[in-house]
Amino acid sequence: MLNLILLGPPGAGKGTQAELLIEKYKIPHISTGDIFRAAIKEGTKLGQEAKRYLDEGKLVPDEIVVGIVKERLSLDDCKAGFLLDGFPRTIPQAEALSSFLDPAGRSITAVINIEVNFDILTARLTGRRVCRNCAAVYHLVTKKEKVAGVCDHCGGEIYQRADDTEETVKKRLEVYQAQTEPLIKYYSEKGLLLTFDGEASIASVFEQITTALEAK
Ligand code: ADP
Ligand code: ADP
Ligand code: ZN
Repeated sequence: MLNLILLGPPGAGKGTQAELLIEKYKIPHISTGDIFRAAIKEGTKLGQEAKRYLDEGKLVPDEIVVGIVKERLSLDDCKAGFLLDGFPRTIPQAEALSSFLDPAGRSITAVINIEVNFDILTARLTGRRVCRNCAAVYHLVTKKEKVAGVCDHCGGEIYQRADDTEETVKKRLEVYQAQTEPLIKYYSEKGLLLTFDGEASIASVFEQITTALEAK
């Protein structure tokens, strides 16, 4: 059973590695960012509430995010494992997560921490493109789709996220440093942290991660 968390700054490659990991391990991909973008697209109450935070590059309040993840992890498909991507992002979120896993006798197997220097992240994020339908991740230069504008996996439309502009990226990186980076120490002290060089190729990062997980 693999209960995994992906940690790293925006643009580190969490979503990209998630695509590969869920295919290999057959576990559900729980991306809080994808959940918010889907809610915004559908125009639900949650979407209307979350939109202003995403647009400004700020974190959605903990109470909202925690409730969503708690509900998602209680579904049957998470019983045999899960991959959290973009959650937890604050210490209170991490504490809430253990408060609902621990009593159920569930625990985190490992926290996959992907490291990339900040100067590289801006180019990755401003060049990022994603599928509006299945959330597959592409890049203008380093990971182009086969047919321009069309998702390789599902045929969906490829677009640029509204928050992948230089200005919002700058804000998101500040938010990461202030609110999310402390989780590295938090999980390291719990003996759960596995750290990877996210500047290597996509295939090589994946290889490093699976090798480390298999040694666990
Ligand atoms: P995150 O989910 O951590 O924000 P993504 O997986 O969306 O990051 O990746 C951000 C951008 O960087 C995407 O355009 C993706 O194609 C690209 N990317 C991801 N991993 C690598 C890598 N190892 N080398 C080069 N580009 C990468
Ligand atoms: P990235 O990996 O590029 O930072 P995400 O898709 O994970 O992007 O997140 C996009 C936005 O969604 C964040 O800037 C934030 O507004 C919101 N968000 C996603 N996950 C969380 C979370 N765990 N807590 C608070 N806000 C979140
Ligand atoms: Zn797609």
